[in-house]
Amino acid sequence: MALASKYKQDLNTFTEQIDAAKSIVIVPHYNPDGDAIGSALGLCLLLKKAGKNVRVISPTQFPPFLNWMPGRKDITVLGKKTEQNPQIFEDVDMLIGVDFNALNRIKNIADRFDESKAFKVLIDHHPEPESFTDLLFSETSYCSTAGLIYELIENTKFKSLLDKDIATCLYTGIMTDTGSFSFNSSNPNTFRIVSELLKLGVEKNIIYDRVFNSFSVDRMRFMGHVMLNRMVIIPELKTGYIYITAADRKEFREQFGDTENFVNFPLSVKGVIFSAIFIERDNFVKISFRSKGNFSVNEFSSKHFNGGGHTNAAGGESRASLQETQKKFVSILSEYENELKNYKY
Ligand code: 5GP
Ligand code: MN
Repeated sequence: MALASKYKQDLNTFTEQIDAAKSIVIVPHYNPDGDAIGSALGLCLLLKKAGKNVRVISPTQFPPFLNWMPGRKDITVLGKKTEQNPQIFEDVDMLIGVDFNALNRIKNIADRFDESKAFKVLIDHHPEPESFTDLLFSETSYCSTAGLIYELIENTKFKSLLDKDIATCLYTGIMTDTGSFSFNSSNPNTFRIVSELLKLGVEKNIIYDRVFNSFSVDRMRFMGHVMLNRMVIIPELKTGYIYITAADRKEFREQFGDTENFVNFPLSVKGVIFSAIFIERDNFVKISFRSKGNFSVNEFSSKHFNGGGHTNAAGGESRASLQETQKKFVSILSEYENELKNYKY
């Protein structure tokens, strides 16, 4: 197996370090998604079974649609409490970062992660990872970090510890990062891994229902409002975008995680291959980009909005006002006029 031979030495080191460690902390990126939390909890449950003292420390809150996952009680959310906890990594022997490629993706705890004396490991599937850990398992060909973690575990002695709860966490990561196998999942290996997870007892229909059919009434109405009043489609540029004001968020009593997935709405319009969302937050505008095919929103976002991500899903931030940010976006679009007009998908 390609992964096993590529990482033979690193997997030996990883196993030795786990054996030697007493206390292990796993860190997902800030604003963690299903893959970050699924990966962190899957590993956490496995390493606990291996007899380790393990915790997940999340830089910020995780979305409520994940608040049923096995092991969720082992997550400490730092958020506003970051300053009161300067010693979080002090007695930790091993730190494992999951689902991020750069220190600034763990924002409020980046310095502490960096300064910690613990043995550090990063497991991720984003392009161009920074080098800030002792071990790096980075594979962009994997649909999700959770899928990569499954295959890494498969190639260690810890494979025998895999069980239904661990599989449920990893499956959730794969399912959410592939939009339920609608994108990012053309590699047959994804389905091999899923098949192994199903053999461990994963109840895929129940997981789907818990993650995707858990909206509040307010959120359903918020969606309706956004599609009707806040979606702009520019057919000639095959682009659509959504903007959400702070007043919108208030009107629909926004709960954390409510705007998740809104960025995908314009891509459901026939012919649209590039979409963006601009959300007015307290001190900045949160931006997300999505695309179909080869149009790289990762490049678009890093070039114009100081962000990054993958070819078809990226994000960034703007310190300008919501209106200014939209204006900037629309004016940048004209630079891409030829590319977008002639885009074949
Ligand atoms: P989302 O749009 O769901 O927040 O993020 C989509 C993808 O873009 C994720 O894989 C995430 O890693 C990446 N991403 C989101 N926001 C940022 C950002 O501000 N900076 C960078 N470098 N990547 C981001
Ligand atoms: Mn991911």
